[in-house]
Amino acid sequence: ITVRVGMASCGLASGAEPVYKELKKLLEGKNEVILKQVGCIGLCSYEPLVEVDIDGKRTIYGDMTPALAQELVNSSFSPTQTLREKVVYSNEIEEAPENRRMNKQVRIVLANCGIIDPERIDEAISRGAYKALAKALKTMSPEEVIDEVYRSGLRGRGGAGFPTGLKWKFTRQAKEEPKYIICNADEGDPGAFMDRSVLEGDPHAVIEGMIICAYAVGASHGYIYCRAEYPLAIKRLNIALNQARQENFLGSDILGSGFNFDIEIKEGAGAFVCGEETALIASIEGKRGMPRPRPPFPAESGVWGKPTNINNVETYANVPWIIRHGANEFTRYGTERSKGTKVFALAGKVAKGGLVEVPMGMPIREVIFDIGGGIAGGKDIKAVQMGGPSGGCIPSRLLDTPIDYESITATGAIMGSGGMIVLDETSCVVDVAKFFLNFTQRESCGKCPFCRIGTKRMLEILERISEGKGKMEDLDLLYELALQVKEGSLCGLGQTAPNPVLTTLKYFREEYEAHVKDRR
Ligand code: SF4
Repeated sequence: ITVRVGMASCGLASGAEPVYKELKKLLEGKNEVILKQVGCIGLCSYEPLVEVDIDGKRTIYGDMTPALAQELVNSSFSPTQTLREKVVYSNEIEEAPENRRMNKQVRIVLANCGIIDPERIDEAISRGAYKALAKALKTMSPEEVIDEVYRSGLRGRGGAGFPTGLKWKFTRQAKEEPKYIICNADEGDPGAFMDRSVLEGDPHAVIEGMIICAYAVGASHGYIYCRAEYPLAIKRLNIALNQARQENFLGSDILGSGFNFDIEIKEGAGAFVCGEETALIASIEGKRGMPRPRPPFPAESGVWGKPTNINNVETYANVPWIIRHGANEFTRYGTERSKGTKVFALAGKVAKGGLVEVPMGMPIREVIFDIGGGIAGGKDIKAVQMGGPSGGCIPSRLLDTPIDYESITATGAIMGSGGMIVLDETSCVVDVAKFFLNFTQRESCGKCPFCRIGTKRMLEILERISEGKGKMEDLDLLYELALQVKEGSLCGLGQTAPNPVLTTLKYFREEYEAHVKDRR
């Protein structure tokens, strides 16, 4: 019997620790039961979660307390009536409320999240971790690894969607030495927690993906740039890195291949702009995190002026699966141009928020209604904000849009890194646009006037409108300014900051007008 307690940040914040401690006390000396702390199980709205796995028969209980944990142990894990009411998922009990939600997902990145103890490398290894690394080092040339990743169709999961294999090829082809790789773990979008959950739940997937990348591009040193606000992720990464060194997956002569590579963690101070790759590089070098013009691109001149490959957490976490199962298997999921799966942090007015992984191409509606359980309180959906503050607001009439890079971009939003914030009929889109613009305005590094001053002026107009002091011509002024900020900004932060305003103006102009007219 294996008992798992979800102890990622979501679980701990909801009281998983006392539940775990109670179980630990009660199971002392019961050798037939293995108690584990695991990462995010995905059903965050039901935290604290406890899973009982008896020979593959899995039952997940939600809203657990120490008293319910006691009941679970006292009943020898055959649920009492009270516990039956707490079952949220089960592959045994057909009518469990979240079976449909779990069964609709495809878990590639999250395959081990919520299953293994992230602080024990032996558990990761027993689930196949580092097999892909051994395969790559022993049976594939660096070029073959790049080709496999390219053929898989994997695109950057940080938002831009650039083909990962191609990016690796550019760094491989760069002449200068040494080469570096960076994992961008500077997740800063309000409402996003995908990368944090992966790092807290399965750090080895990311580390293994990075080592394979380093081998492919010829890098000798890697950085994980992780925001300091993620202390649990950093703690688990440090443990995982040390364990990987002990197993000779990192360091010199990895697995006897002659390949040398190691990773260090750089803690970011929480500036949103440091998620932009050139600002991130400046920050690693100890400089102020400010973007610089590209070219040169990092593949040519990155950290310390040397060729550097940057991908985000989710991108690297896909790589071991691709190498292990092959590119063809990966292309079974997704659409023609967007392959594989995408992890989303489902939040806002959705009934059941949480961490989900779905095949690319699934319509947004299915994610919100079939997986997220629809709208909280039985209200109507108004829109979904995708891509965080750089993304846009997609109205309910476009909910059948498939989740792929091109289709989402066509709506005016962006795929982004995976934030999906649901708005219901009572949400005010002007407030939503104001919230996100307020965020990007404060996070602007101030280098270019359009972003520094333009966003400030846009915010003033939005405040005027939402206070009922706006005029009709303010809407045109807001639109014009938004286009100029988009055009005239140097980096992605400024170029995308107007997106929430532009999309809400495009799809909900009458709501803006009502704010103006109503208060006259
Ligand atoms: Fe800085 Fe904004 Fe210019 Fe980016 S667009 S460099 S964040 S001022």
